[in-house]
Amino acid sequence: MRTNIVTGGAGFIGSHLCESLLARGERVICVDSLLTGSEAHVRALRAHAGFSFMRQDIAEPLRIEGPVERIYNLACPASPPRYQADPFHTVRTNTVGVIALLELARAHRARLLQASTSEVYGDPLEHPQRETYRGNVNPIGPRACYDEGKRVAETLCFDGLRAHGTQVRVARIFNTYGPQMAPDDGRVVSNFIVQALAGEDLTVYGDGSQTRSFCYVSDMVRGLIALMESDATGPMNLGNPDERTVLEIAQRVLALTGSRSRIVHVALPQDDPVRRKPDIALAKATLGWEPQVTLEEGLKETVAYFRKEIGK
Ligand code: UDP
Repeated sequence: MRTNIVTGGAGFIGSHLCESLLARGERVICVDSLLTGSEAHVRALRAHAGFSFMRQDIAEPLRIEGPVERIYNLACPASPPRYQADPFHTVRTNTVGVIALLELARAHRARLLQASTSEVYGDPLEHPQRETYRGNVNPIGPRACYDEGKRVAETLCFDGLRAHGTQVRVARIFNTYGPQMAPDDGRVVSNFIVQALAGEDLTVYGDGSQTRSFCYVSDMVRGLIALMESDATGPMNLGNPDERTVLEIAQRVLALTGSRSRIVHVALPQDDPVRRKPDIALAKATLGWEPQVTLEEGLKETVAYFRKEIGK
């Protein structure tokens, strides 16, 4: 029975990943500071034999007894308001934290998958984004703590590979949504659904013509496991290339919820990327992976989840 450490395992993607690994009959040690992760996710996972939890920040020394084969590093606040709330902590997580996990991987001869992000491409001038594109990041803007932090995290992984032969996998995760997003997470899909269900105005930032490409969480988790178990180091884009405008997302959410909420336009945050869409040719060719859940199906599931959650 393989042992996985999942840092950020009480978070949105992390909790789904823990569930999938447990369902495969593997052991999971979930490490989470619960800064943005949820106690409720941990409680639900405790029902599985083979699950254990450590409340811990990855930048603090982490000692694990016994063998560890796989480390998935998903620890980092990921929504702009959350990662900007304490930019120093965000940078520390992606530098000190990643160095600590590389050392842990080396000590256990484990494989480390680093959750990187489409934000390494910044406000991209190339469209769609391929892994070879080096990006257009503002190094001194409000998003930089996350964008540059994740870029350094990638650097550290490849230095770990070059210097110590550490087995690393780098996944560049594009916008992902689904059940178990925190209602106050601050990202667009959860904001719109929560607003629509509460009868509040849907806050479209700017004119809503900016685009994103949204991947349902089950597709993402399949991709992460496939990359971990492949021979490819990456960096590899994982995301759904189905590109939509933010305004269209607002309209779809209104239609799906039957809400009478209005759409209002508020100020566009600084450095908000104008267009984003992954080129997933590499993942298709290497992993045989591509998303299967359509936006319409995924939004339906997510709305159903929030209806239940908010009604509690
Ligand atoms: N956005 C919006 N209203 C919201 C939250 C976000 O219009 O309540 C926009 C945001 O400006 C961005 C897009 O939706 O253009 C995606 O934002 P999110 O924070 O979900 O992710 P990211 O910007 O990191 O892709």
